[in-house]
Amino acid sequence: KSTKRSPKENESKQLPIYQHKTKLIQAVRESSFLVVTGETGSGKTTQLPQYLHEAGFCKDGKIGITQPRRVAAITVAQRVAQEMQCTLGRDVGYQVRFDDCTSSDTMVKYMTDGCLLREILADPGLSQYSVVILDEVHERSLNTDILLGLIKKMFSNPAKATKGRSIPLKVVVMSATLETDKLSAFFSNCPVFSIPGRTFPVTCMFGSVVGPKDVESTGYVKEVVKVALDVHTSEMAGDILVFLTGQSEIERACDLLYEKAECIDYRYDVQDQTVEGLLILPLYGSMPTDQQRQIFQPPPPGIRKCVVATNIAATSLTINGIKYIVDSGFVKQLNHNSRVGMDILEVVPISKSEALQRAGRAGRTSAGKCFRIYTKEFWEKCMPEYTVPEIQRTSLTAVVLTLKCLGVHDVIRFPYLDCPEERFILEALKQLYQFDAIDRRGKVTQLGELMVEFPLHPGLTRALLKAASLDCQELLLPVAAMLSVENIFIRPGKPEKQKEADKKHKKLAAKTGGMNDFATLLSVFQSCKSSDRPSAWCKENWIHWRALKSAFSVETQLREILLRLQQKRDFPVEAFDGNRSELLRRCLCTGYFTNVARRSVGKVFCTMDGHGSMVHIHPSSSLFDQEAELNWVIFHDVLVTSRVYIRTVCPIRYEWVKDLLPKLHEVDVYELSSVARE
Ligand code: ADP
Ligand code: MG
Repeated sequence: KSTKRSPKENESKQLPIYQHKTKLIQAVRESSFLVVTGETGSGKTTQLPQYLHEAGFCKDGKIGITQPRRVAAITVAQRVAQEMQCTLGRDVGYQVRFDDCTSSDTMVKYMTDGCLLREILADPGLSQYSVVILDEVHERSLNTDILLGLIKKMFSNPAKATKGRSIPLKVVVMSATLETDKLSAFFSNCPVFSIPGRTFPVTCMFGSVVGPKDVESTGYVKEVVKVALDVHTSEMAGDILVFLTGQSEIERACDLLYEKAECIDYRYDVQDQTVEGLLILPLYGSMPTDQQRQIFQPPPPGIRKCVVATNIAATSLTINGIKYIVDSGFVKQLNHNSRVGMDILEVVPISKSEALQRAGRAGRTSAGKCFRIYTKEFWEKCMPEYTVPEIQRTSLTAVVLTLKCLGVHDVIRFPYLDCPEERFILEALKQLYQFDAIDRRGKVTQLGELMVEFPLHPGLTRALLKAASLDCQELLLPVAAMLSVENIFIRPGKPEKQKEADKKHKKLAAKTGGMNDFATLLSVFQSCKSSDRPSAWCKENWIHWRALKSAFSVETQLREILLRLQQKRDFPVEAFDGNRSELLRRCLCTGYFTNVARRSVGKVFCTMDGHGSMVHIHPSSSLFDQEAELNWVIFHDVLVTSRVYIRTVCPIRYEWVKDLLPKLHEVDVYELSSVARE
C-alpha cells in the first residue's frame, strides 16, 4: 500500500470530528446502535466511514451509508474516493436509483435510502454489511423513517438479526440537529455521541418586500437577485449562498445575476477589500456532476463566489468559505394535497428551524450574515416551527407495498418514529388494492410481488406490467423511462427562443397525431435513439440531450428487471382483441384509471376519483386549446398554482375505464384496515 500522503489529509485533520476519532471507533465497537450528532460540516458523512474502514470494520462486510438525496450520495462518494486516493466505483462507490457505481471490491458504499430499502427486500438481514450508517436522519425522509423502523424490527428478532452473518450488524444513526433523545429512545436508549463543534454568530436580517400576502406568489426570485447583488456590492469579501427552490428558478436567478453583475463598476473596492467580480454557480439535484465539482473549489483571488442552490446546501452538502446567506424563505416539497387527493410538488414557506439551519451555514468558519428576503411578519404568520416529517405528508403506497412484501402485514402498528395519520395508511392500502397489488384481505398478490421490483410509481408499474402481459412492453418501457427522468423539453428564458422551441415541440407532437402526450414521449425517445447523431438531433429539437441519455439508460434497466422477472416467475400473459393503435392508451388506463378526468364545461375537466376536483389542461400539453374535442382523458400528474393543472395527458374512451372506475369506490377501507390490524 502506498504511504504517500493525500493532499486532502491535512484538510480532513482540521475537521471537528478528527479529535474524536479513537473514541468514535470505540463507541461503534461497543454497542449495536449508536447515535452520532454534530454540526453540519463537522465531518460526519465524509470521515466516519473512513475511520471505520481504517479500523478494520470491512473485514466482515461492507460499510453502507444512506443519504436522502441522490446528489449528496454521489458527491460525497466522489469526495471520499479522492480522500482515500482510489478510483470511484472500486473501494468507494455509490448507488442511486438507476445509477450503480459500485463493484465487487466496494467496501464503502454511499447510497440513497431508497436503494438500501430495495436491498432489504432481497436480503432482509443485510448480510453483506458489517456497518450500516443512516445519515441525515434529521431530514426525516420517508425512506429513512421506514429504514429506522425496519432495523429496529430486525433487532427485535435475534434470529433474523444474525442470520447469514458471522458478527452482528452495527447500526449508526447520524443527525445534525438535536432530536437525539428521541432517536436514542427509539433504539433501546442507545449511547449518543456528540461531536462538539465551534460555530460563529450569524446576524440575521429580515427584508421588507415578501410578506404574508406573497405566500403564493413566485415574484421572490427578483428580490433574491437584488439582495444578492446588494451583498456583493456592499459587503466585505466572503462567498454568498443563495437558497431557492428548484432548477428553473435557479437558472432564472443565475441569468439575472449574470446580466446585472456585468454592469457593476468595480473601481471602488468593497470596504477596502478588493472584490473584482462575481462567480455565479448553480447547484441543484439533476445537475451534471462535473459542474457540481466547481462549487467546492475556492474562487480565484479577488473574485466572490455566489452559489445559487436548492435546500441541498442546507445540510447535505457543505461549501467552505460561505459568509453570507440570502434566504428566499421557500422550499419545494412533496405534499399530499387533499383538495385533489394526490401528491404534489409544491413551493411552500420553510419552517423556522429550517431557516435557522440555512442561516447557520454562514457561521462555520467566522461570523456571518443572513439576509432574509421576507418580513418579520412572514416569519411569524407563515412559517411553521418545524418541518413535518415526509411520512406524515406524502403518499405511502410504495412503502406500504414494500413493507407488505417484507412480511410486515400490520402496517398500522409498525414501529414508526412518528406515526403517519391512519387515513394515509388506509389510502395506500386502497390504492394497492385498486392496482391489484393486494387482495381484499390485505395480502400481497402475485402481481404485487412483481410490482415491488420496479423503482417506479405503482400506477406506472401497473401499466408497464399490463403492457408486458400483452407483449407490447416496447410501447411502455420508453414512456416509463421518460417519465422517470427530469423534463426533457428545453424551455429557454428568452421569449423569441421560447417561440422557436415551442414550434419544434409542437412539430414533435404532431408526428403522433398531436393528441397524446405519452405518445409524444415515446416518439421523441424512438426518433432520437434511431438518429445517427442523437445529440445533434436533440439540439435541433430543443430537447435536453443529457436527460434523454438518462432515459435511454433507465429504459435498459427497466427492461432488464422485466426480463429477469419474466424468466424467474409465473408471468401473466393476456391476449388483446382491440385495435392495435389503441394499445398504448389501453395499457396506460390500467395504471392511470385513478387519474381520469371528464370534461364538464368549456375547458374545465372534473376528476373521477371521488374528489371531483376541477382541473385544466396545462399549456405544455399538446392537448391544450383542443379541449372542445375532448371528453375523457387520463393524466400523469398535477401542478397546482392559482389553478389545478393536469400534465402529460391523453384522451381515452369511457369503455376502457368503465370496468375499472367502480374500483375507486368499491372497497371499504375499513375492511382493509381491520385486516391490517389482525
Ligand atoms: P457533515 O456530514 O458533518 O455535515 P461532511 O463530512 O459532509 O460533514 O463535510 C466535511 C467537510 O468536507 C466540509 O468542510 C466540506 O466542505 C468538505 N467536503 C465535503 N464534500 C466535498 C467535496 N465534494 N469537495 C470538497 N470538499 C468537500
Ligand atoms: Mg453530512
